[in-house]
Amino acid sequence: MQPLFLYNTLTRKKEEFKPINPPLVGLYVCGPTVYSDVHLGNCRTFISFDMIYRYLVHLGYKVRYVRNITDAGHLEGDRDEGDDKFAKKAKLEQLEPMEIVQKYTVGFHDVMRAFNNIPPSIEPTATGHICEQIEMIKQIMDKGFAYETEGTIYFDVEKYNKDFSYGQLTNRKLDELLEGTRELSGQDEKRGRLDFALWIKAKPETLMRWPSPWGWGFPGWHIECSAMSSKYLGDVFDIHGGGMDLQATHHTNEIAQSQACNHKAPVNYWMHTNMLTVNGVRMSKSAGNGFLPGELFTGDHPLLEKGYSPMAVRFFMMQTHYHSTLDFSNEALQASEKGFERLMDSYSTLQTLKAGSSSSEDIKALQTKCYDAMNDDFNTPILVAHLFDAARIVNSANDNKLSLTQNDIDLLKTIYQNFVFDVMGLQTEQENSKANAVLAKVMSMVLDIRNKAKVDKNFPLSDEIRNKLTDAGVQIKDGKEGSSWKI
Ligand SMILES: [Zn+2]
Repeated sequence: MQPLFLYNTLTRKKEEFKPINPPLVGLYVCGPTVYSDVHLGNCRTFISFDMIYRYLVHLGYKVRYVRNITDAGHLEGDRDEGDDKFAKKAKLEQLEPMEIVQKYTVGFHDVMRAFNNIPPSIEPTATGHICEQIEMIKQIMDKGFAYETEGTIYFDVEKYNKDFSYGQLTNRKLDELLEGTRELSGQDEKRGRLDFALWIKAKPETLMRWPSPWGWGFPGWHIECSAMSSKYLGDVFDIHGGGMDLQATHHTNEIAQSQACNHKAPVNYWMHTNMLTVNGVRMSKSAGNGFLPGELFTGDHPLLEKGYSPMAVRFFMMQTHYHSTLDFSNEALQASEKGFERLMDSYSTLQTLKAGSSSSEDIKALQTKCYDAMNDDFNTPILVAHLFDAARIVNSANDNKLSLTQNDIDLLKTIYQNFVFDVMGLQTEQENSKANAVLAKVMSMVLDIRNKAKVDKNFPLSDEIRNKLTDAGVQIKDGKEGSSWKI
């Protein structure tokens, strides 16, 4: 097996992937906060890590893939300001907070299924792990890195930074980070500007609350991922992933919490997916350019010319490296849609390809190139380029412009199965394939009638059929073994 290299945010280098206990691999990805519909930027993160998970499995690793559901404790501001997102939405929709959680968790799973993402091995929720979070906070306090102010527990960033390095994930010194935050006012409960809440005291109106050694309250957002990742993957595990927007605060705080607790860096490889833009502008609610997955599928948004199938969108995402910005535009989506069709059509053609006695193409080398692309930090755009090359070979073989042995045809089938379906997670469009099956039957009937006309020497009729099919966009090719057709 060739070595796999991946870009590690922590070291800012591409490194060879060496799991702690091969063939076991621990993978943790920060999941959604289920207080509203999942947005497309999040979908990109989960689709990227689904591809990464699939490739690790394909290489033979036994991956425990943990992706959490944040269903409590997420305040509007990353630094513990503002209202609880769930409580606010519950008030707005006149529902219980747990009804909000249920509604959007179901919606999230529907979208993940539409994109053909494999469910994680474990999908733990914050509310299901309150005890573990309280336990971890107690340990951080025992080690002297947290303090209590009137029922709220804060992590002491400056004290932590004396023993460890707080800004290592974003490669920033504490002084620089302090410069970027506002001065504390006299009313602040925290001692340091960068301190963040591990546990937040419940207000009289707080709906979601739990008892703790410090009174009734709820956990801060960051502690859940530290508590749940160490519970299911151990104090030190292989890969932690998430969107790039989580790097500076959420993931930086996760490292601090775990390191304060265990005095060990919790994660060997940090991986981050880049953001989405629409026509070059960052996708966001405030810019009004943030369409939802459902709107993208139906085309029901002013920025969309038409709807795009989940598989066409997935393929579109695979055509950009997960670490680069991905720009949505109608032109780019339509180009991907065509490319995806071309790939799928060549897959159908491959099934009926007739073998020759020799090969004029090196299919084994093509397979090696596919692995090289994936081993180079999961470079799916390069992989797709090689698969288009495979499609070209298949189409040329079908047109008798080149020849392939049965072994090479079988190897091509393996390449499609491994990389198109297993690793990139694409599916043949169910509806498309149904319609195609019907069309194939109709066309075979039309060609039979035309052949009968030819046998009967009714050439005006056979020509008329051919011309009318050409008008309809169907091309007929007459060969020694009968007639064939293509659109
Ligand atoms: Zn997280």
